[in-house]
Amino acid sequence: MISLDIIQPIISIVIIATAFILVYRKSARVSGGHKMGFELKKVAHESAVKFGFNNIAGNIEAKEQVEDVIDFIKSPEKYTRYGARMPRGMIFYGSPGTGKTLMAKAIAGEAGVPFYSVSGSDFVQLYVGVGAGRVRDLFKAARKHGRAVIFIDEIDAIGKSRSNSASGSSDEKDQTLNALLTEMSGFEENDGIIVIAATNRLDMLDPALLRPGRFDRHIEIGLPDLKAREMIIKLHMKNKPISDTVDVSSIAKQTVYFSGAMIENLLNEAAIVSAKRGGLVIDDKDIDKAFYTVVAGAEKQDRSMISDMDRQISAYHEAGHALVTKLVAPSNIVSKVTIIPSTKGAGGFSMNIAKDRMYYTRDDMERQIQISLAGRVAEELIFGANKVTTGASNDIEKATEIARDYCMRYGMDEKLGMINMEVLMGNSDNPIASEILLKQSSKLMKRLYNETRELMEKNKDALIRISNELLVRETLDEDDISDLMKIAS
Ligand code: ADP
Ligand code: ZN
Repeated sequence: MISLDIIQPIISIVIIATAFILVYRKSARVSGGHKMGFELKKVAHESAVKFGFNNIAGNIEAKEQVEDVIDFIKSPEKYTRYGARMPRGMIFYGSPGTGKTLMAKAIAGEAGVPFYSVSGSDFVQLYVGVGAGRVRDLFKAARKHGRAVIFIDEIDAIGKSRSNSASGSSDEKDQTLNALLTEMSGFEENDGIIVIAATNRLDMLDPALLRPGRFDRHIEIGLPDLKAREMIIKLHMKNKPISDTVDVSSIAKQTVYFSGAMIENLLNEAAIVSAKRGGLVIDDKDIDKAFYTVVAGAEKQDRSMISDMDRQISAYHEAGHALVTKLVAPSNIVSKVTIIPSTKGAGGFSMNIAKDRMYYTRDDMERQIQISLAGRVAEELIFGANKVTTGASNDIEKATEIARDYCMRYGMDEKLGMINMEVLMGNSDNPIASEILLKQSSKLMKRLYNETRELMEKNKDALIRISNELLVRETLDEDDISDLMKIAS
């Protein structure tokens, strides 16, 4: 996984996106029934144009993951009959502007129920008790209608975990959070009310929110990959006069790391440019101009260069993980490899699902370490030992944890033997024991690193093929990886 230095340009783009969204939010926050000066936005299901999945391009995995919830809101009886319990709460997490609000709204639209929306930031700096009262009012309004979707944007404003909130937590925040949890446990499981909360950072939330019976379904709504960006561009071009010469796929290629909101903004900016000059249609030049306004506000910034190198590093790193997974653990499923960063691990990621089993062998543990190290191995093999990046930090952490257990808990290291170090030493720090442990784990790590390197050298062609394909398509699945490896053998 790629982190820190490398995602600098991504971060700045995200900051720009956030700025847009803030502006966008301000202008959007106009309508709604007022209650004690508090806005409850409600999108009634009678509205002439149905808001639904058609209004969201891409996000296919997320759509699949909420389908049963929509069905449940429509006909809770169907599930009650089987004694099924549906989630009361879901959390959508991911970068700003990726369509979390859109998705919540579409769920309401698809299910044909009202949509109540508030933002966690509306609750900050209130007098003690006021926030809690507002939460109760919100649920009362929704309950009156029976079925509904309640959406709480920026849930972290009230639900940040204690260790993460600055200068301790305020009573007000606690009371608001408690009111929310109480209301959520208050409604019957099969009432047909669902609470959806959105956040940029799942790991910042108070664990109390994530417990079963609360927000127990977590769905990532991440940045769109190439194909998804094409779909988003097409969707937002629909209501605009666009010149025939405009090439959608080339815009999609130029908008790496853009969120849906940024793409929407880009096309809107292009429309403004075109309107200003009185053009008949929006053409390539208008879009080019809009790019500069949207991305940097300055033409000199060489964004394409930076992102190009980053993308190469990400591509080889992730290709390394995928390749080694398939070589050492063919039964693991590499369900998704992408160079589009996820909020869980910046940079790209590769998802690999190991077969569930009761016991793990020494081989399994070693293979798992190899898979973790493979990203760094690929970086070294392609770019050289001095060009390896900070992107492997999570991988190293994971590999070290496995190595520690290998030596300390499972008696798999020959020199240490069948000893549980914790039992033997208790909590006392013994410098000699620590030294042996360090020596043995780093020996293990070095051996596995070298084995992985040898393996990858033998399969360098496949590595290059996978990463080239990643650079073109950004996301690959199990079948793609298998195909790309077959050509090798
Ligand atoms: P979030 O809640 O994740 O910050 P929003 O749902 O508010 O993002 O999205 C802001 C705007 O960006 C939307 O109104 C829409 O114009 C555009 N947008 C974002 N994602 C998509 C998408 N997947 N498809 C179409 N438009 C999108
Ligand atoms: Zn990695």
